[in-house]
Amino acid sequence: MMQIKRLEIAISHARGLVTNCYLVELPDGTVIVDPAEDAAQIISALGKNRPQAVILTHRHDDHLLAVPELVAHYGEQLPVYVHEADLAAAHDSIAVRLEPLHGGERLCGVFEVIHTPGHSSGSICLYVPDEGLLFSGDTLFEGTCGAVHFESGSPSQMHDSLQRLAKLPKATVVLPGHGNPTTIGEELTAGLVEI
Ligand SMILES: [Zn+2]
Ligand SMILES: [Zn+2]
Repeated sequence: MMQIKRLEIAISHARGLVTNCYLVELPDGTVIVDPAEDAAQIISALGKNRPQAVILTHRHDDHLLAVPELVAHYGEQLPVYVHEADLAAAHDSIAVRLEPLHGGERLCGVFEVIHTPGHSSGSICLYVPDEGLLFSGDTLFEGTCGAVHFESGSPSQMHDSLQRLAKLPKATVVLPGHGNPTTIGEELTAGLVEI
């Protein structure tokens, strides 16, 4: 069973907003999904574990502001992945080297990258089939989907992305960018997508 730590990080520029940052422990080092802010909290939670990669689910500031400090702390060889469609916008916020994703690749041996545009053009979900887990970023939350009114958002792309996620096994545990975990089955029951 994969060890996952969920850190709830308060976002200083948006009152009341809390982002989930996930630390996924793997044999070759911990993978950090969405280092929202507060690098000190993340470094302290990592403890003696070294990170092997940072994966960003999308371009928004509430998911990536700790990246420069983490790269400074752990070294520039720490890869930071983001979908190619969100790369330029992410780079505007964090001036570090970013590795582009295209969707369909397998990262760190376990994460299948699913391109799920709609909340932003480069939003991704990370699917771990062996564990029945989906890191859904701001695409799918408990009881709702991500907002589509942002600059590169699109209701029709969000609809198509949710249809894709709806095909995953119902028991898949969804770990979203904000709020509590859910499952694909619960969200189907809640009528998130009409099939
Ligand atoms: Zn977002
Ligand atoms: Zn967010």
